[in-house]
Amino acid sequence: MLDELKAIFGSENVIFEKENLEDYSRDASSISGLPDFVVKPQHVEEVQALMRIASKKNFPVTPRGLGTGLAGGAVPIHGGVVISFEKMNSIKLIDTENLLAEVEPGVITGELKKEVEKRGLFYPPDPASFEVCSIGGNVATNAGGPACLKYGTTRDYVLALDIVLADGTLIRPGVKTRKGVVGYDLVGLFTGSEGTLGLITSVLVKLVPKPKSMISLLIPFSTLAGAMKCVTTILNRGFIPSAMEFLDEKCLNLAESTNIITSNETCRALLIIEFDDIDISDTEDLQRIYDIAEENGAINIFVATDSVKRNQIWELRRKISLDIEHSSEVYIPEDIVVPIGSIAKFASLLPEYEKEFKINIYTFGHAGDGNIHLNITASSKTNINLVNRGIRAILKKVVELGGTISGEHGIGCAKLPFIDLELTSPMIELQKSIKNLFDPLNILNPGKIFD
Ligand SMILES: Cc1cc2nc3c(=O)[nH]c(=O)nc-3n(C[C@H](O)[C@H](O)[C@H](O)COP(=O)(O)OP(=O)(O)OC[C@H]3O[C@@H](n4cnc5c(N)ncnc54)[C@H](O)[C@@H]3O)c2cc1C
Repeated sequence: MLDELKAIFGSENVIFEKENLEDYSRDASSISGLPDFVVKPQHVEEVQALMRIASKKNFPVTPRGLGTGLAGGAVPIHGGVVISFEKMNSIKLIDTENLLAEVEPGVITGELKKEVEKRGLFYPPDPASFEVCSIGGNVATNAGGPACLKYGTTRDYVLALDIVLADGTLIRPGVKTRKGVVGYDLVGLFTGSEGTLGLITSVLVKLVPKPKSMISLLIPFSTLAGAMKCVTTILNRGFIPSAMEFLDEKCLNLAESTNIITSNETCRALLIIEFDDIDISDTEDLQRIYDIAEENGAINIFVATDSVKRNQIWELRRKISLDIEHSSEVYIPEDIVVPIGSIAKFASLLPEYEKEFKINIYTFGHAGDGNIHLNITASSKTNINLVNRGIRAILKKVVELGGTISGEHGIGCAKLPFIDLELTSPMIELQKSIKNLFDPLNILNPGKIFD
């Protein structure tokens, strides 16, 4: 195997020493598994050659972007070869006339955003990890972010893909135009398939014009219910913010940088609301937003129009999951979605689960689309079975409320035990037969999404 891999990828792009393999044995979840080899392709032909050998010799291949996934998706739990796309990282095209960009899968999302913005264009998907994750990983997980409320998720921007199938065949599903309905939507099927159906080797995305103005509001509230009512009222009154994020009281207490807010003891929740289409000089629209916030118990309103202040606000939001992770021995991130009208009710139920299952839950997330990051922590691993039972009970409630157990992180192997809460047996069987059609030997990222 080693000689064969070196012949395809070059010695410098094959890792087989245990100490170096460790770097590819985990993602940002707590799941780990050591691969036998790591390969770093630079060309699509190398990816095809790998899959031809894998299907002949029947070994698992786990695709990896930049390893920031939170569901164990890029972890080689059955060993075999990790194919890391870190060196396929060039932006091949930015077409300002047709508002398109074509990139290799290892391009860092933030790099693409920066490059298109230099040309007056905008690539909206903005996972909080955008400075360290890859477009290939984003497509494979259908990543979302705060801007999803207004602009949608990664899937809404992918027009076409280059995919290497399990037997090494290269296919190019999709179109270069904004519309196209010839045959089944294979681009939609591959987007969010978590590396289980094919390897993404190129991505064509559509772009939109860069928004003209940005304004961020930081609003502390005296109750979480008030903050959530503010969210629904803003939408009901015809505004579509480019982001509406919230942090609960526990998150605020953890984040040192919010001293200014938490010094006010009545603060129970924080909203970060961003608009990219309000004319900042038009104070009438802004005043209407302030009025809505005050009606719902806003304690204060901090406004940031310049990029330095806006970055400070977003830094607070982006850093919070790391702060939580470092605060406890057990940290399990869940990213459920409930209908936005049910967020406050759902949040009010959480203390009961905390008590019953001896867990501590920090909540923050995308209030505008109901995607709540439930950061479940416990002080010790000794009660892990109880913690898992608690997670199952919470996810069951989410589905009962009309929600979904994952809005953006995917199933990977972390959430695999809970998939039956949402998908019925016929749906699971149908999905398994799709997997079987694309990957009859089960060599592409085995053990993910399904058992
Ligand atoms: C601090 C933090 C904040 C985050 N915030 C968000 C957020 O706001 N929204 C969000 O959606 N996610 C978020 N995430 C999760 C993560 O960043 C996303 O899931 C991201 O899309 C993963 O990209 P990656 O390049 O790191 O992929 P990886 O973790 O390497 O892989 C993710 C999945 O994609 C598959 N994959 C990767 N590349 C390919 C390829 N070329 N072909 C086929 N399959 C492939 C892998 O097998 C795996 O199943 C966050 C993570 C962290 C640590």
